[in-house]
Amino acid sequence: MKEINFNEPLHLNNSVRNVHKFLNQKKPLHGPGENILRIKKELNKKFNFKNVYLTNSCTSALEICALNLNLKKKDEVILPSFSFITTASSFARTGCKLKYCDIDKNTLMPSFDQIKKCVNRNTKVIIILHYQGFSVDYLDNLKKFCKRKKIYLVEDAAQAFGSFFKKKPLGSFGDFSCFSFHETKNISSGAGGMLVVNNKKFIQKSHFIFDKGTNRYLMNKGKIKYYSWVEIGSAFLMSEFVASYLMPQIKDYKKIFLKRSKNYLRYIHNFKSWLADDFYLVNNYKYRYNFHAFVIILKNNERSRFLRYLKKNKIHAVISYTPLHKSKAGKKYKTKKDNLYFTNNLINKIVRLPLHYYLTFKEVDYICLKIRKYFKR
Ligand SMILES: *Cc1c(COP(=O)(O)O)cnc(C)c1O
Repeated sequence: MKEINFNEPLHLNNSVRNVHKFLNQKKPLHGPGENILRIKKELNKKFNFKNVYLTNSCTSALEICALNLNLKKKDEVILPSFSFITTASSFARTGCKLKYCDIDKNTLMPSFDQIKKCVNRNTKVIIILHYQGFSVDYLDNLKKFCKRKKIYLVEDAAQAFGSFFKKKPLGSFGDFSCFSFHETKNISSGAGGMLVVNNKKFIQKSHFIFDKGTNRYLMNKGKIKYYSWVEIGSAFLMSEFVASYLMPQIKDYKKIFLKRSKNYLRYIHNFKSWLADDFYLVNNYKYRYNFHAFVIILKNNERSRFLRYLKKNKIHAVISYTPLHKSKAGKKYKTKKDNLYFTNNLINKIVRLPLHYYLTFKEVDYICLKIRKYFKR
């Protein structure tokens, strides 16, 4: 058996062909051009996303949200400590406080009660992270709650492209929603991302921030003659060149997900008969799911040994996140009080197994067999 990588970047013929086609046309590389327009059209058709900004990363999309909101020093942003670094840093850089929320052991995301416990007078934003591309089961109620309390809801949907809550795609619930097309996600342009703005109040300002803090967007619409500096923004956009690689994947995303789903279900099939005693899964998916990640939670704090064993057997599994409240910078921006019992308890038990487009059944079976041997089953 050769090395089994945790992830392998997508190299689909359709993407390669479309990049060639684009380059042969000798059109401007910066854009926006045909590919960016096409992506937006597809996203509207497939998911009813209306105000889409294609960015160079999900991190950029998160930064655009944070820059939109004029957060003050005492304002608090609630997010799980069990999250990716830039979910936090994008907001922390504006000078606000981070309120780390605990997670539920069955979903590895905060429960509604855990979120409510973090809310106080200073809460301005709640970031809901769709871990593994799954939705929490209270997303509609959370949206109502935020509206009632005048709190902004941001979806970190980096892993959630193509997943749903009930009949609506993830990304349609937040005032802002941020997606990633990083190489480790289901569809990718190497680095890339997008912001969906659902709160109409922020459409124009997002255009300004997105395009270097200028109002060029109004010039392009013929509303002003020259553009100028109107906000603090940055160079957040995805180039047309990059979009030419991404566009065919957006069009055909279901084909890519189907392949992932087969491997995902193969894991489940293999583990079904014996797993419960040694580890458990978070796979209670009820709605359309994008099969982004295969995560197992060990019963004991033996992750280092487990990962070493897999590596010796040429299987590259990974830990998910180091919790933010334990990181050097993450401590600096947090509020004084937090209760992270489950995060602390679970953190050294969470393992992500290889799952990617090029993984074969033979490899999945081999991984499961080795894990079975590890647990002497
Ligand atoms: C991958 C990821 C990000 C960052 O995405 P980039 O496109 O690399 O900036 C942010 N949040 C979560 C939850 C992620 O999984």
